[in-house]
Amino acid sequence: MTTETEVKKRKISRIEDILNNDVWDVDYEPHIIVDYSKCRECEWKPCIRLCPAECYTMVGGEVLFSYEGCLECGTCRVICPEKAVKWEYPKSGRGIHFRFS
Ligand code: SF4
Ligand code: SF4
Repeated sequence: MTTETEVKKRKISRIEDILNNDVWDVDYEPHIIVDYSKCRECEWKPCIRLCPAECYTMVGGEVLFSYEGCLECGTCRVICPEKAVKWEYPKSGRGIHFRFS
């Protein structure tokens, strides 16, 4: 039988709640560079749908990328069909610090 406490624990297991525990030490230099000229030729723009942090958005019909909330999952690097994403980890331990609770 499920106790009330167990139900409460399950309710906070949404991805947003888990990410709220994490902190970012954002580098002033972006660790990901996107070649927007290639994005214009990209038909499906999978980064918009597949980036879990929603770092890729459409603004005025153009792709806009912001690196600050990146989770360093590497998805955009792998799925970009145009090889438009130059990807590195942030320098010197910067970037996201996961805190598992
Ligand atoms: S998948 Fe690559 S080329 Fe396509 S919009 Fe995203 S970053 Fe640009
Ligand atoms: S590495 Fe992951 S979280 Fe970061 S921008 Fe790419 S898809 Fe988004």
